[in-house]
Amino acid sequence: MNIAGLEKNSFVDYPGKMAAVIFTPGCNMNCFYCHNQILLSKKTNENILNKNEVMNFLKARKGFLDAVVISGGEPTLQPELLSFLEEVKGLGFLLKLDTNGTNPGILKEACQRNLVDYVAMDIKAPLEKYYEICRTKINTDLVQESIKIVMESGVDYEFRTTFAPPLTDEDIIAIAQMIEGANLYVIQKVRYLYPLRDPGKNPIPHTVDYIMSILRRVKPLVKECKTRGYEMILPLL
Ligand code: SF4
Repeated sequence: MNIAGLEKNSFVDYPGKMAAVIFTPGCNMNCFYCHNQILLSKKTNENILNKNEVMNFLKARKGFLDAVVISGGEPTLQPELLSFLEEVKGLGFLLKLDTNGTNPGILKEACQRNLVDYVAMDIKAPLEKYYEICRTKINTDLVQESIKIVMESGVDYEFRTTFAPPLTDEDIIAIAQMIEGANLYVIQKVRYLYPLRDPGKNPIPHTVDYIMSILRRVKPLVKECKTRGYEMILPLL
């Protein structure tokens, strides 16, 4: 298991829990808004932190941390992911897996073997717009398969979309239709940490009316719909 980073305490990465976040190197996508671009430049098999030291840290934090989040990069690219999840679970932590949904086989096994307690799966765009966002040729059948696995798993989950141009309100509705009946869909405001080369992707400020009209259309399609990052314009949500 290759580990590229460790955030020792986070209140925001596991719903309602205090968690440590472990970042894995490498990703099979290259989303233009990625906050973890430093990890994308790493090879999937590049080990930066010593796994034993990370495990020792987690052992020392038992009783203080509730959960561990495995994020990336794309964690399912790690050949030893399942055994690592098993090892961390053995310490008694809740486990959350962040994934872009391109590895349904690993996802299914992690859910079936009760190695994860929460899955957060990104849905980048309606399937035909994937390339515009993640700039890599992805077999979108795998994404659809992962959606089905997550929804049928019995594990807590959320699907989430970073609402970045060129996505429009119609795209968000199309995604909600792809996951119709899902427990939770989160629409995240895009934040750019790096200057964009393509000014066409600069965010057009979303107005309250625009977001509210999207929420009104999404809410009948899923059990719960939340926004993240729009608190400044939607103080009552
Ligand atoms: S899938 Fe996630 S980690 Fe990979 S490039 Fe996209 S935002 Fe970054």
